[in-house]
Amino acid sequence: MSHDLPATADVVIIGGGVMGASTAYHLARAGTKNVVLLEREDYFGQGATGRCAGGVRYQFATEVNVRLSIASLAMIERFAEEMDQPADYRPCGYLFVLTTPEDVARFEHNVALQRRLGVPTEWLSGDEVRQRLPLMCFEDALAGTYHARDGLADPNSIVMGYLGRARPLGVQALAGVTVQGISVAGGRVTAVVTGAGTISTGAVVNAAGPWAGHVGAMAGVDIPITPIRRQMLTTTPLPELPADFPFVVDFARSLYFHREGEGILTGMSNPHEKPGFSQKVDEEWELVAMEAAARRLPLLEKAGRVAGWAGLYEVTPDAHPIFGPTPVAGFWLVGGFSGHGFMHGPIAGKLMAEFLLEGQSRSVDVSMLDLARFDEGRLIHEYNVI
Ligand SMILES: Cc1cc2nc3c(=O)[nH]c(=O)nc-3n(C[C@H](O)[C@H](O)[C@H](O)COP(=O)(O)OP(=O)(O)OC[C@H]3O[C@@H](n4cnc5c(N)ncnc54)[C@H](O)[C@@H]3O)c2cc1C
Repeated sequence: MSHDLPATADVVIIGGGVMGASTAYHLARAGTKNVVLLEREDYFGQGATGRCAGGVRYQFATEVNVRLSIASLAMIERFAEEMDQPADYRPCGYLFVLTTPEDVARFEHNVALQRRLGVPTEWLSGDEVRQRLPLMCFEDALAGTYHARDGLADPNSIVMGYLGRARPLGVQALAGVTVQGISVAGGRVTAVVTGAGTISTGAVVNAAGPWAGHVGAMAGVDIPITPIRRQMLTTTPLPELPADFPFVVDFARSLYFHREGEGILTGMSNPHEKPGFSQKVDEEWELVAMEAAARRLPLLEKAGRVAGWAGLYEVTPDAHPIFGPTPVAGFWLVGGFSGHGFMHGPIAGKLMAEFLLEGQSRSVDVSMLDLARFDEGRLIHEYNVI
């Protein structure tokens, strides 16, 4: 569809997931006229964004992640009103169940941090966890944490909401266009080469999610984002599940459950998963995960499997995202959210617009999440990774 491709653009964004869509909208809203968003799939939001669990939470272990959640979840809560598109935000609460003394100590610290930043996370004893989850077997629970405004939202609605508002502001969002190369001259970006033609531009945003490393290599920039497969499944209806069943995380096992329609969505991270781009369901791991899930929620033995799928986490060495400039002038990066980027996508796009237009992040200070931190040894580890 070369006729759709403009010869020049003020900004080209590569990747039509939540990061690309939010960045395009926020740039256009701030007045950037000639923004082009390129997505290689036939539809937007089919990468990590479309395969994610839809969880949104305030409960993180570092100040910057809690601040990103405070800003981003407020945008998700207001999405329907501001973007004219319901985001299906359901504040069912996240209940982290802790079964090791080490996790209890770490979460005590995390909850103190969250409360200091204005997030009123509740601390539960082991007995309180068991009372709140009568259908589950948590005889080994030592403690738990619960925050009522954590919950779920719909990834597709967020992507479509941003694109729907970005297009009338002049953004050309083109699906089915694969970026094959990035031209650099004198240390500056000059063009984006695609299967449908070349766009001259002085500004490119790499929002390619798990594929951000490939796109970085096109500009000669090394980006430490590793794709790691994660998978989940959904079940047939379970009428016994109460309407207020929370998003439950068996933290030590990286095993989680939440209501999906009338049934359950459950997944468990495979700690031995090797980096790679396969998005095929690992059937052996699905059995292991299903057995672990049924031990915690015996009701699952009565349920049928409706669907299962796999997607890619975009993992950095410190489980924090990377924002901002790269060593190539005009080549920007937003990525590496390490499995919790859907919820931070709204604020991430706003921050990228600030970086491109004002040279720095203003709404939330993410200056410490720069690409240079990996070379300079300034890593900030996130403990609450599922
Ligand atoms: C199984 C799973 C569960 C998850 N659960 C949650 C959750 O509960 N909550 C949460 O907040 N996050 C969750 N995440 C993480 C979240 O999905 C990601 O952090 C987020 O979606 C990343 O968005 P993105 O826009 O950077 O990447 P993507 O959505 O992957 O978008 C990148 C896009 O770039 C495109 N692209 C790549 N290369 C090119 C190219 N050369 N040319 C053109 N286009 C290209 C891809 O096709 C893709 O559409 C989960 C992820 C997975 C895999």
